[in-house]
Amino acid sequence: MHDFAKLPLLLKELRLATIRNLWEPFARQALEENWPPDRYLAILCEHEIDARLQKKLKRNLKQAQLPAGKALSTFDFSHAPTLNKAKIQDLADNTAWVNNKENLLIFGPSGVGKTHLAAAIAYGLIERGIRVLLTSTTALVQKLQAARQQLCLPQTLAKMDSYQVLILDDIGYVRKDEAETHVLFELIAHRYESGSLIVTANQPFSEWDSIFADTTMTVAAIDRLVHHATIIEIVSESYRRTHCRHNK
Ligand code: ADP
Ligand code: MG
Repeated sequence: MHDFAKLPLLLKELRLATIRNLWEPFARQALEENWPPDRYLAILCEHEIDARLQKKLKRNLKQAQLPAGKALSTFDFSHAPTLNKAKIQDLADNTAWVNNKENLLIFGPSGVGKTHLAAAIAYGLIERGIRVLLTSTTALVQKLQAARQQLCLPQTLAKMDSYQVLILDDIGYVRKDEAETHVLFELIAHRYESGSLIVTANQPFSEWDSIFADTTMTVAAIDRLVHHATIIEIVSESYRRTHCRHNK
């Protein structure tokens, strides 16, 4: 006779935490309902896989650093009539553009919902298993500069490859300083055809000369960003301002 008392320990050793929690109630049900053994085993395996997936999604969501509450369900499309809602919903629901390493560029003045929209699309992608990181471009540039000073820029850039989507929020806030913009350019060149970027910007391309060190670098950066990209422009009044006025 096998020693079933050891089962919890064996499952622990195998790191099958969910099966360890569920095997007993399911065993009772299996006996009552005369399940064949393979059905019992398959059901336990499905629960283990599902629990792992949920755990992974939760971890990915936490790592993405998205602002809370900025979902598509809370985005008021009537305030941004230039937006094609179906197209935006598709960017959140359909991961093909991410798998194809395409980019998404969101333009518009301050307060019109660029960050909200980027986060909303990211929430949808994360639910579909995509790893995302949202960061202010200035903070990321500082991090990359520090990495370069410590001679580990290539490794830091390579580490970011684990995020299939990197959101560079407010690219235009980067100061025009040669060292800074150089790492930003290196990041864009590194991601080119290797991972997706979502970029939000207050300024149109014609003003990006204020971001990069010289025109050649500006053109090269824009070329790489737009090569496989969806461009969204939000033309509306600042949501903050409108709502501030309505609340008065
Ligand atoms: P931007 O990044 O373009 O400066 P944000 O995304 O930060 O603007 O939006 C400013 C604030 O207004 C946020 O709290 C955001 O949730 C809200 N907001 C902007 N546009 C909309 C919208 N169309 N529907 C709902 N909330 C919006
Ligand atoms: Mg913003």
